[in-house]
Amino acid sequence: MKLKDIASFAGSMLLMAAVVFGIYALKNSDAFKDKMQTGDPAAVSETETKVDGNRAESAEAEAGTEVSMKTVLKTAWESAGEMRGWIAEAFGEKFVGLSGQITLEAGVLDSTDEGDNGAASTEEMQDDGRTASSYLQEAESLAAGYFYAEAVSLLEAAIAHYPEDGNLREAKEKYQMAQSELAAYAGVVAHISMQSLIVDPDKAFDGDEMADAYEKTAVTVTEFRNILEEMYAKGYILIDIHDLMSMSEDSSGDVVYSPEKPMVPEGKIPFILSVDDVNYYAYTEQDGFADRLVLDAGGSVKCIYNNGGTETVGDYDVIPILDAFVAEHPDFSYRGAKGIIALTGFEGVFGYATNKTDSGIYSQDAATVSNIAARLLKTGWRFASHGYWHQNTADISMETLELDNARWEAEVGSLVGTTEIYVYPDGKEVEYPGEKLDYLKSEGYSIFCGTDEKNILSIGTDYIRQTRILLNGTGLTAKNSRLAEFFSLKDVIDPKRPD
Ligand SMILES: [Zn+2]
Repeated sequence: MKLKDIASFAGSMLLMAAVVFGIYALKNSDAFKDKMQTGDPAAVSETETKVDGNRAESAEAEAGTEVSMKTVLKTAWESAGEMRGWIAEAFGEKFVGLSGQITLEAGVLDSTDEGDNGAASTEEMQDDGRTASSYLQEAESLAAGYFYAEAVSLLEAAIAHYPEDGNLREAKEKYQMAQSELAAYAGVVAHISMQSLIVDPDKAFDGDEMADAYEKTAVTVTEFRNILEEMYAKGYILIDIHDLMSMSEDSSGDVVYSPEKPMVPEGKIPFILSVDDVNYYAYTEQDGFADRLVLDAGGSVKCIYNNGGTETVGDYDVIPILDAFVAEHPDFSYRGAKGIIALTGFEGVFGYATNKTDSGIYSQDAATVSNIAARLLKTGWRFASHGYWHQNTADISMETLELDNARWEAEVGSLVGTTEIYVYPDGKEVEYPGEKLDYLKSEGYSIFCGTDEKNILSIGTDYIRQTRILLNGTGLTAKNSRLAEFFSLKDVIDPKRPD
């Protein structure tokens, strides 16, 4: 890493802090509070303009020219291999997305700590403190999630310690073979999109004014569990959206995409999952949805469910349910891939009011959200912008889109990490090509996900477009539903779903 890069990297950190602080200070002003109470996104434009002004000024002061955060991070990423883990951990999905490193790290730590303890007592230990069987066990758990290359490297290290051990050599050959048998998937890779799950159907489908909307837009915990079992049995396997492309650099140093066929084991069908609005909006309170995400004592992401004032921690939404499912069935996920979490910001993140920067517990909420986000990134999840206000990207003005994105980056991106994935609110796409697309690209977005009747995947040199299939109540109950391709509709439907 060059000194210049470190300097500009540090400069950008200061810049980011200055922007966040600037917004924090502005929001504490009375003028801002008055405007926010109107609840009208347009009413905050003046404040946002000031924020933008601050950003531009600071950028000039820091670097002499406006350097985008993403450009600097990208440079740091490219020139400092050893820093990748750290950058990914600190700043998020974009950088994790470029390598399987972080996911692997978490997988190894999680799976081997226990294994070592069991094996060490029964075998003679060599100078590295590890037994041959603990190596074998770790390699096996790596290979179960298709980390074949990593399993092979580990076994090579083990063989250096135990040159006479036939089991180690045999395992190494087995995983080399498995790696060589992965094949490029030639079919269309579906992208399934869903929202937070209904935990208590009696509350969601209780006939109140929201019941009909929930029936159409959401699926229940029971349905999601059934769907996972069915898709797993049919050979579906989660992949990361980045597996659809490879990235290289052109002569000017810009990232260039080219299409890739994902490599999967024979008979497996890759798919991508995304979950929108994991924000736990106020309107779902008391309607049988989870309340917020938390980290449990073991560091896993769980949900808090609030049942009339009694809070319980558990697997009450897509994230912890899928995490547990993949832990049980590692072959359901290619190299630890989980899903894309598309976040808004207008009601905070993960159930924490990070939109209220003057709440008195803002710094606590922000730290909680950052910690949860870091864990999610380590365990195969990716983040996307879903717009700050969940406005229709196709319909809003350029000016509104700019304000919306600046606000998202300041309040959400600053906590979960910068991202190149943009999931259109309500699936409404911009024009390709077009002014809004150019703007979003200039802000660092390069993977655009909308919804469409057809599966569309187009990979250009500087952006990717993929459309998504909605996994919701309407889809579960519709005649000729596209979802019938993935599982048997009648088998997965919650008996508590109204007819
Ligand atoms: Zn949404």
